[in-house]
Amino acid sequence: MEGIATNFAEVRQRMEAACRRVGREPSDVELVAVSKTFPVSDIAEAVKAGQLVFGESRLQEAEPKIDALPASLCWHFIGSVQRNKVRKILQKFAVIHAIDSLRLAEYVNGIACELGNAAEVFLQVNVGGEASKGGFEAAVLRQEIGKLCALEHLRILGLMCIPPAGPDAESARRWFVSLRELRDELQTISGRQFSKLSMGMSGDYEVAIEEGATHVRVGSLIFGHRSRRVEGELG
Ligand SMILES: *Cc1c(COP(=O)(O)O)cnc(C)c1O
Repeated sequence: MEGIATNFAEVRQRMEAACRRVGREPSDVELVAVSKTFPVSDIAEAVKAGQLVFGESRLQEAEPKIDALPASLCWHFIGSVQRNKVRKILQKFAVIHAIDSLRLAEYVNGIACELGNAAEVFLQVNVGGEASKGGFEAAVLRQEIGKLCALEHLRILGLMCIPPAGPDAESARRWFVSLRELRDELQTISGRQFSKLSMGMSGDYEVAIEEGATHVRVGSLIFGHRSRRVEGELG
């Protein structure tokens, strides 16, 4: 491991370069540093390097880490959401990235109502229509977007996707384009604004930024190789 600070500098530089290529402002793209499987000491090193926004995919793993670190950090929940964890997730995390059904959205809305706040969420879209992946089918989302927008304790920030695996970063571009176009379409259908796009990981975040990502979720490029898959991890 060369060093987490060095990795951050490199990723941030590449993010800025990707923004410049397409005339976007670097401040319009949030880097969510995915720290799943990595210890508190690594996250503390990232904080020292200036990073304040982190992503975790499993509540049991994240909770002790969150509690051990400064309360000023911002945590994004990027894993699949189990109902019995929703209350705790809403208490510990600022944003949920993978709301994948109307039923789950309604459930989260109910808990957020009980807690007296609004949950900030992304709607996950199964852009490749893969059986192995979660997320709304685009056609279902077109039908249900009205009902989703009517949930008063849900603040829909935008759409999120994990594209089908491909041979290289460039092969993800068409999926990122399709997510952006779906967002535009849904905004027109619903008359509501939810402009954010959570897309792009270590292998393809630069392409995602070129296609409009506002949140990239980057883990291994920053913290290093993960030796195990994480329970609750998406697709
Ligand atoms: C693990 C994970 C990431 C980060 O993946 P890397 O390839 O390590 O950057 C991003 N998004 C989700 C949903 C993940 O589960």
